[in-house]
Amino acid sequence: MRLFRNLMVPTLLAIGALWLGLPGAPLSLAGRPEAAPDETDAREPQTSPEDETDAADDDKVVKSDSEWRKILTKEQFNVTRRKATERAFKNAYWKTKKAGVYHCVCCGEPLFDSKTKFDSGTGWPSFTKPIDKKAVAYREDRGETEVRTEVLCRRCDAHLGHVFDDGPRPTGQRFCMNSAALKLVERAESKKGDSKKNYDAAVDLPAKKSR
Ligand SMILES: [Zn+2]
Repeated sequence: MRLFRNLMVPTLLAIGALWLGLPGAPLSLAGRPEAAPDETDAREPQTSPEDETDAADDDKVVKSDSEWRKILTKEQFNVTRRKATERAFKNAYWKTKKAGVYHCVCCGEPLFDSKTKFDSGTGWPSFTKPIDKKAVAYREDRGETEVRTEVLCRRCDAHLGHVFDDGPRPTGQRFCMNSAALKLVERAESKKGDSKKNYDAAVDLPAKKSR
């Protein structure tokens, strides 16, 4: 028995060692293939949040001053990018009654519907509300004598004008806008849900040409 045991133990050890050394042996596979996916998993979560941030900012239109100057007239640039105010009664839309949608002159975002336009007597196009709450952004505009609420295009941060609380019903608000910040696309061209496309077709933006 002792001889048998003395022979069997080394033999079994040798067989075990051989088996483990084979390429298909379970122990040699166990470590490696699991290590690779771990490395990949560790990398993926780092890129995903960046991708999501990029997607959220995709809609924003950001250009340098020199880029804006190329696609805007001097007055459009001074109003939308430098917060200038155009002259009252000497602008394109102060008394316009045509039906349509007023778009941002910079980025084409639909901003105001002619249905909410009213004659404020100020000499600037005035509206009771934006076409969509999300179309515009607001910023406190602290001047030397008064604090006003500046209205900007949500998409490209163009200065549009100011909003006041002395408007007619139903909102009681008066969005006092600069014509130079707007582009009216008349109703026939501006069908619902297609206004951006029609805007691009209706206004010949140099920005589109250069792309
Ligand atoms: Zn805009």
